[in-house]
Amino acid sequence: MLTSNLPRISLGFFPTPVHELPRLSDALGGPRIWVKRDDQTGLATGGNKVRKLEFSMADAIQQGADTVVTIGAVQSNHIRQTAAAAARLGMRAVLIVSGYPPEHVTGNMLLNYLLGAEVVFTGEKTDITEEVMQAEREKGHKPYLIPVGASNAIGALGLVAGMEELVGQVKENGWHFDWLVLPTGSAGTQAGLCVGARALGYDIKIAGINVSRSTAETQAKVAPIAEACARLIGREMKFPLEEIISFDGYLGEGYSKMGPPEREAIDMAASLDALLLDPVYTGRAMAGLIDLIRKGVIGKDEQVLFWHTGGAAAMPAYAEKLMAGR
Ligand SMILES: *Cc1c(COP(=O)(O)O)cnc(C)c1O
Repeated sequence: MLTSNLPRISLGFFPTPVHELPRLSDALGGPRIWVKRDDQTGLATGGNKVRKLEFSMADAIQQGADTVVTIGAVQSNHIRQTAAAAARLGMRAVLIVSGYPPEHVTGNMLLNYLLGAEVVFTGEKTDITEEVMQAEREKGHKPYLIPVGASNAIGALGLVAGMEELVGQVKENGWHFDWLVLPTGSAGTQAGLCVGARALGYDIKIAGINVSRSTAETQAKVAPIAEACARLIGREMKFPLEEIISFDGYLGEGYSKMGPPEREAIDMAASLDALLLDPVYTGRAMAGLIDLIRKGVIGKDEQVLFWHTGGAAAMPAYAEKLMAGR
C-alpha cells in the first residue's frame, strides 16, 4: 500500500461501497452515474474526514498529545468527526467554532456535545487558535492542532488510501470511470485523490466543485497540499495549477447558503435513488454535476463517479428551508 509505512489508526469502516444511481441517470437522460459512499465511513454518521483523521490522530498520538484542537463552522462535519475520533481514542477534543453559539443546538453541533467535546466560540475574533492552544498547555494538557478540514499533507494521506481503495474496487469489478466529481472546500480531499491517482497511474478526471472559493484560489490550495502529501509517500510530484480541475460556478450566495440548485440536487438524489445529500457540500457538488451534464461538459457516453463525502448530519439545521414550498 502507498501509505503503509506511515502511522495510521483504524477509525472507519472500509472499503466504502460503490453503487450506481440508475434513476438519477435516467432522469437526467445523461451518463451512467455511480457513487462512492464515504458518507458510510462510520464514526458518528461518517464522512470524508474519517479517512483523514486515521492519519491525523495517529500523528497526534505519536507526538504524545492527549487533546486535539480543531477549527470549523457551526455545522462543520469535520469538527464533529474529530470529536468522535477523540472520544473513540480516549482523548479530549476542543472545537473552535467561528462566531457565537447558535440559538438552536442541532445537527452536527448537537453531536459535538453528545460526543463529549469542549466547544469554544470565537465571537467577534477571527482567530483564537493560539490562545486556545496556550490555555490548554497552561492547564497541563498536550494539545495537537488539526487544521481546518484536516487539510494538510498528513490528512490528505487518507484520500491517497481512499483512491487506492477505489482503484482496487474498479479492477475487481471491471468498472470504468471517466470522471470523479466531488465537493471541494479546504482542498485536502481533492489533493489526496490526485496524489493517489497519479501514484497508481489511474487515469480519471478528478473534478472539484468548489463550495467556498474561486477556481484560482482552490488550485492554489490543492497543489501545495498534494505536493507535500506526495513527499510523505516518498514521491516527488508536480501539480501544475492549470491541470487541477476545479469549478467555481456553483458558489451561489456563498459557503453554506443553500439555494435552488442545491435544493433541486438534494430532492432529486433523495427521491430518485434514496441518496441523502447535504445542503453545504454534496448538495452543491451534485448541483454542479447535474449542470455539467445538462451543458454537455460531461458527455452522455461517459461514466461518472460521484464521491459522496458525507454531511447529512447537518440536515436538521436546514429543515425549515428544505420544507419551504412543500
Ligand atoms: C469537509 C467536507 C468536504 C470538503 O473536503 P475538503 O477536503 O475540505 O475539500 C466535502 N464534503 C463534506 C461533507 C465535508 O464535510
